[in-house]
Amino acid sequence: MIDFSLTEEQKALVETARRFTKERIIPVAAECDREGRFPMEVFKEAWDVGLLNPTCPEAYGGAGLGELENTLITEELGYGCTGIQTSLLVNTLPLTPIKLAGTEEQKKKYLGMLTSEPITASYATSEPDAGSDVAGLKTRFRKVGDDYVLNGQKAWITNATYARFFVIFATVDPALKHKGIGAFIVDKDTPGLRVGKKEDKLGQRASDTAQVFLDDVVVPKANLLAPEGQGFKLAMETFNQTRPDIAASAAGLMRRCIDECVAYAKERKTFGTAIANHQLIQWMIAEMGIRCEATRLLYMKAAYNLDNGVRDPIISSYAKAYGADSAMTTAVDAVQIFGGNGYVKEYPVEKLMRDAKVLQIYEGTSQIQRLVIAKQMLA
Ligand SMILES: Cc1cc2nc3c(=O)[nH]c(=O)nc-3n(C[C@H](O)[C@H](O)[C@H](O)COP(=O)(O)OP(=O)(O)OC[C@H]3O[C@@H](n4cnc5c(N)ncnc54)[C@H](O)[C@@H]3O)c2cc1C
Repeated sequence: MIDFSLTEEQKALVETARRFTKERIIPVAAECDREGRFPMEVFKEAWDVGLLNPTCPEAYGGAGLGELENTLITEELGYGCTGIQTSLLVNTLPLTPIKLAGTEEQKKKYLGMLTSEPITASYATSEPDAGSDVAGLKTRFRKVGDDYVLNGQKAWITNATYARFFVIFATVDPALKHKGIGAFIVDKDTPGLRVGKKEDKLGQRASDTAQVFLDDVVVPKANLLAPEGQGFKLAMETFNQTRPDIAASAAGLMRRCIDECVAYAKERKTFGTAIANHQLIQWMIAEMGIRCEATRLLYMKAAYNLDNGVRDPIISSYAKAYGADSAMTTAVDAVQIFGGNGYVKEYPVEKLMRDAKVLQIYEGTSQIQRLVIAKQMLA
């Protein structure tokens, strides 16, 4: 039996997230974008109302919600600003591998940290020379006595400037590729760990992105998350569980494009009539609706699978690839519908177009999603 209706609890959650977006995110989104400012006050308020770390289990102080609830929240916050939404919800990235592979002590300590105060954490696979090619990462670890010592450099790390801890992937030997990779939880204050300059980005400028340098960083045995040979698998499973969130973010961004375009098309007149009456404008708006709803169905199916133990990672990649590409196309069309007004910062759609682009890049580019999908189809 298929049922797309939400439970009363899920509807209430969506309502809370929608109200928060309207009252707290939309009013500051343009300013955070302009100034490239991390929305710390919004982050704290979202923590207060219980919108952060939704998938953290109850045993560690979280709400213990499923991936479906997580994606529903993501779509709502993404409607307001995908940059702010990323800042608020990217904790899911470091939280997921700890949930999947952490010891009881690690879960108590680090998931407990996320739920006992409004803090951020980061997840780091990418490096200056290894983004798509995760197995090609070069940050090294070696065992010294009971500890591990990490050396290397991470790039593009979301929330790194503010992170209290990092989940860091490293290898015993780059020549071993995926067989050499392990993962560690590293506290921000560990000597030798330094966060580099913040990137000045095209879009999602309210989210923080920075490099992380590791210079003889000593990590105690207790913080080993995945031993040599297990880290790559853990990174891939994490992406399987978090890629539906990108699709949900894309759906939020598309829904915003639709609302802005519908309102504008009814107001703006050319040739003596509202542009909403021109069929070529109607076509673009209709296509936006199709793409948004198809993305929503895909992220819901991916979330359903994850919540019900159905292992089918191809759906997460379908959702991520289709959602991200659809968001980009939709945002470009939104600028087109606004004409010259679409090209200036007085109107909201140029930001939507800048924000959409990175959905096709992070957590596996659109090209990498096709590789992952084709590999499974041709297996
Ligand atoms: C704003 C932002 C936030 C990010 N946050 C994080 C984070 O928190 N943690 C983290 O670890 N990383 C993060 N990343 C990194 C992100 O995951 C990588 O940028 C992404 O995986 C692409 O890697 P790359 O930049 O090295 O591009 P490359 O891997 O160099 O790719 C360049 C181009 O080549 C294409 N390409 C690569 N290989 C193939 C292939 N085999 N076949 C066809 N095409 C191919 C790619 O699709 C892309 O178009 C973030 C990036 C950005 C921009």
